[in-house]
Formats: sequence, C-alpha cells, structure tokens
Amino acid sequence: MTERLVVVGSLNMDLSVTVPRLPAPGETVRGTEVVRGAGGKGANQAVAAARLGAAVTLVGLVGADAYGTELRERLAAEGVADHTVAELPDAASGLALIVVQQDGENTITLSPGANGRLDPATLAPLLDLALTPPPGAVLLQLEVPLSTVHAATRRSRAAGVRTVLNAAPLPEDPRALAELLGEIDVLVVNETEAAGLLDASPSPDTRPAEWAERADRLRSLGPDTVVVTLGAAGAVAAGPDGLLTEPGFTVRAVDTVGAGDAFCAQLALALGTSTPLPAALRRACAAGALAATRQGAQSALPTLAEVDQLVTRA
Ligand code: ADP
Repeated sequence: MTERLVVVGSLNMDLSVTVPRLPAPGETVRGTEVVRGAGGKGANQAVAAARLGAAVTLVGLVGADAYGTELRERLAAEGVADHTVAELPDAASGLALIVVQQDGENTITLSPGANGRLDPATLAPLLDLALTPPPGAVLLQLEVPLSTVHAATRRSRAAGVRTVLNAAPLPEDPRALAELLGEIDVLVVNETEAAGLLDASPSPDTRPAEWAERADRLRSLGPDTVVVTLGAAGAVAAGPDGLLTEPGFTVRAVDTVGAGDAFCAQLALALGTSTPLPAALRRACAAGALAATRQGAQSALPTLAEVDQLVTRA
C-alpha cells in the first residue's frame, strides 16, 4: 500500500544570481543570468517524500502571480497533490532572492509573501481536506506562522495522526516554541537548532553520545521522540525505548543543501508506517547522505530505489 503523508508548510520561488563579489550597500554589481528554482521547506519536504514513493499532499499558500502558478506546476510534475495549495488573490508568492559570490559566500533576502498569510482560519478547510482519509503522519516546519503550526498540530492530533515537526528555522526567541513542543509527537532539529532550544552553546567538539543526551533533555520539553541531525556524523535520537546513535553513511558530499529536507521526509514516512525508530533513523540518514552528493535543493533529492540500495549495500 502506498504510504500517505501530509506536509503543511511554505512554498518559495528561489531566484539566484552569481556575482564576482557581493555588492556593498548602495553598489550595483553585474551578475549572471537568473536561475529559478522551486523551494521553501514545505515544498522541498513534500517533493522529497514524493520521490521516496509516498502519496503526498501539501497544504500551503501561493500568491496570484506567475511564480505561484509555476510553483504549483512543479509540484504536480513531481506527483505532489496540490489541491490544498490555495492561491491568495492579493498576495505575492514567497520569494527568496539569492546572490552568490563565486567562492560560494552568499546573501539571501526572503520575502515570505503568501506563506506569511497562512493563518489558522485559512488553514482549517485545506487541512481537513488533506486529512481525509488520515495519512500516516503530518510533517511541519516553521516557515509559516507559529499560530498556524499550532492549529495544524492540534487538528492532526484530534484526527489521530502523528505529527512530526522540523523546528526550522528557529524563531529568534526559541522559548516561543515551549507550548508547541508539548503538543507534537516527533521533533527533528539540527545541532544549531538543538543548542538554541536548550540555550546551550553549539560546540563543534560535542560527541554523538553527548548529542543523544541533549536529545533526551529536549524530550523532557514534550515530544515523545527527538531526533538531532549531525551532518556527516549521522543522527541521534531519544525515544521511549532510550537513546540511539546512527553514524550515518560515508558519501562524497558536494552540497548539503537539501540533506535536512530529505532526512525529515524519509523519517516522517517511515515513522508514519510504524517502522521502528532505529530503522527509520537509518533510512533517514541514507536519504540525507544521498541528497548531500548532489547540487541544489529539490534537484538533489533521492528516490526510493536509491535509498533502498544504499541501506542494503551498507
Ligand atoms: P541540516 O542541513 O538541516 O543542518 P544536516 O546537515 O544535519 O541537516 O543533514 C541532515 C542529515 O543528512 C544528517 O543527519 C545526515 O544523515 C545526512 N548528511 C548530511 N551531510 C552529510 C554528509 N556530508 N555525509 C553523509 N551524510 C550527510
């Protein structure tokens, strides 16, 4: 049976220009032709799950502009159901303006646009549609208003559906998440976000075993299961059955953009079908590692066959 996943989150058009050097304030620098790419954590994780073989429904908002149309077309091309992505007539679509210096240093200006207008009232009918029939899990991130993430979590739980929160990007004051953490089932964060939530300093010397203990401390804030991703060092988890460390997969990494999104999508899918946590964590690490071997965000996301192959080969 095909696994079903609902993602509630953002859609952005990413516009990238490469320049010889980043402009100073007030300066104009000539760059390359614009490269357009579909992005936003919600859309990225939805596409990641679709490539991993799931039937995915994305709940979100775009503006009534050409970018909104293109973002939806790209979702459809990836097989993501977008009947619950609504178009807001008086809004612009979310947009990321990315300027990249030749050595990779970059600046990003993000205009949330329609994503910032996804309020609980707008969400309710869209989410109810997406929750029929109930999926294995609902996956959320923090690129839409916090009140909406709350509302989505409560509605999903009331429908008996497991909730997975990728707490990224972290709000300026992470204490704003206290109530939400008490309401979700699974929390996924990277090292920086975990440190931010614990008010600890993110030391590069922290060992996986210590991260596992930190995951356990995060668990005391509410979630049943906490996963911390550690880049090339894999991931750790704290759950009802104790602590886990997963060393991850050794790959030739070229660009880790998209790794976190692939990881979250695979983890939510596996947990949504009641895969035991150790196996879910391992598959998620395989998906993240494969995404790190390719350039870009959505373009780097692996397929189900690739994850199966890496997991069985290793
Ligand atoms: P984020 O991009 O959100 O900070 P991470 O960099 O921790 O997330 O990556 C997410 C997951 O992807 C990691 O837990 C790991 O399993 C995998 N991953 C990321 N980078 C690498 C890498 N260089 N080699 C192998 N696996 C990687």
